[in-house]
Amino acid sequence: MGKPTGFKEYKRQTPSDRDPALRILDWEELHTHMPTEELQTQGARCMNCGVPFCHTGEMIANMAAGCPVNNLIPEWNDLIYNNRWKEALDRLHKTNNFPEFTGRVCPAPCEGSCVLGIIEPPVTIKNIECSIIDHGFEQGWVNPEIPETRTDKTVAIVGSGPAGLAAAAQLNKAGHTVTVYERADRIGGLLMYGIPNMKLDKKKIVERRVALLKEAGINFLTNTEIGKDIQADELKEKFDAVILCTGATRPRDLPIPGRELKGVHFAMEFLHANTKSLLDSNLEDGNYINAKNKNVIVIGGGDTGNDCLGTSLRHGCKSLVNFEIVPQPPNERTDNNPWPQWPKVFRVDYGHEESATKFGEDPREFEISTVEFLDDGNGNLKGLKACKVDWSKPQKGGAPFSPVEGSEITYDADLVLLAMGFLGPESPVAEQLGVELDPRSNYKAEHEHFTTNVEGVFAAGDCRRGQSLIVWAINEGRGVARECDRFLMKETSLP
Ligand SMILES: Cc1cc2nc3c(=O)[nH]c(=O)nc-3n(C[C@H](O)[C@H](O)[C@H](O)COP(=O)(O)OP(=O)(O)OC[C@H]3O[C@@H](n4cnc5c(N)ncnc54)[C@H](O)[C@@H]3O)c2cc1C
Ligand code: SF4
Repeated sequence: MGKPTGFKEYKRQTPSDRDPALRILDWEELHTHMPTEELQTQGARCMNCGVPFCHTGEMIANMAAGCPVNNLIPEWNDLIYNNRWKEALDRLHKTNNFPEFTGRVCPAPCEGSCVLGIIEPPVTIKNIECSIIDHGFEQGWVNPEIPETRTDKTVAIVGSGPAGLAAAAQLNKAGHTVTVYERADRIGGLLMYGIPNMKLDKKKIVERRVALLKEAGINFLTNTEIGKDIQADELKEKFDAVILCTGATRPRDLPIPGRELKGVHFAMEFLHANTKSLLDSNLEDGNYINAKNKNVIVIGGGDTGNDCLGTSLRHGCKSLVNFEIVPQPPNERTDNNPWPQWPKVFRVDYGHEESATKFGEDPREFEISTVEFLDDGNGNLKGLKACKVDWSKPQKGGAPFSPVEGSEITYDADLVLLAMGFLGPESPVAEQLGVELDPRSNYKAEHEHFTTNVEGVFAAGDCRRGQSLIVWAINEGRGVARECDRFLMKETSLP
């Protein structure tokens, strides 16, 4: 244990993000690092509890409690306090293939389950994780993991998001020959084309890791859509095993009057095109949906909605509103959301903070539902009608809320972005392989087993569990690699 009295002596501190007024003028990462000594002090706050909950990774009340990849958190906190960075890095890589991603964008369920969090603000676990890996890269300690020997087994992975990349990294380490197929022009899934650059830098962070995976011997084929460019059953014949990591990319729509109007888009159309244009031409090719000088309404919260806020602000939107259908969460945990559950409390994410800085108030409106998109007479969006909803009045056999009579209100809008979640993987990969779907239209496979009903075909990540988190995708990618290795070799030493 680092310093037995550290948690009593030191207060939680996190590095300040860049000034919101300045950072909305560029696409650079918004987070900064803490100086080493301050970080060691934060590591000293870890109590190395008898039974730490921070690394358990359990699902409680449908939310992750503790770290889903079971990072050995108290161990590396202690190592950082004692200035033993290389050992901390080795410990971190034992459980997490990509800590530079989670250290930046994980919502940190570990911190919600930290024992110190019962009485004091929790240990700054996520920042410490990020600093360990960034320091490791700076020191040249992170190198490609080239296997000493190769088996004669081949594996095809469909989709290059964090699940596909983690599976590829582990199976390559076990000596199998791995080919990753990706329909986009760049590798990374939502790491590349979902999360915007200011949260996770594409060239410096995502492509750096992809380059290491290539050097380690993994084959990547971009611009190749399985089911269209290559039939899924062809893959099954060509490879010893196939792993589906296609993500849950089918967006939930809002089929209300006016949905067809010009100016109503899915969030992912907006976010994907923006990052592609940014990387291709620094937004000079014009191949993106521009929010400049527009009244923008983002329907839906979560990471996707928030990323639409941050992106619209960087374009220079005229106004910004974010609709949330749910009630505003409380500021503190309620009695039915006790530790170590994920705290369901009101949070201010980077897009909310930036919007408040630019326009003087938080952009969110809670308990509001969109009723109709309004036409300017030429097929263009000019606004929308919305109404308040009451969650204390569920509708019989219908929605868990009712519209509040007389609450209808009209908003001006030139651009509406739909960020209302995702409904499972797209067709036709499952049909071509004969893979069964579960009732939520995800590929049917058990967590920890990852086998589908078709022998030799596995599924992991969002396409199996539904839209989730990077850290769960890494958990599933590692798990599916272990089970695939067991299938190929009849035994496995992968964790
Ligand atoms: C806008 C947005 C922001 C998010 N922000 C965060 C965040 O801050 N923190 C966090 O933890 N999580 C976040 N998430 C969730 C997180 O990104 C996902 O849970 C995670 O990326 C899932 O990983 P995956 O590998 O299962 O799938 P994905 O990352 O979705 O990757 C699937 C890949 O498969 C490819 N593919 C699909 N079908 C085919 C096919 N037929 N042939 C070839 N390739 C195919 C897709 O092009 C895609 O590249 C966010 C999600 C979104 C949408
Ligand atoms: S991966 Fe996420 S949950 Fe795990 S230690 Fe890092 S920040 Fe915490």
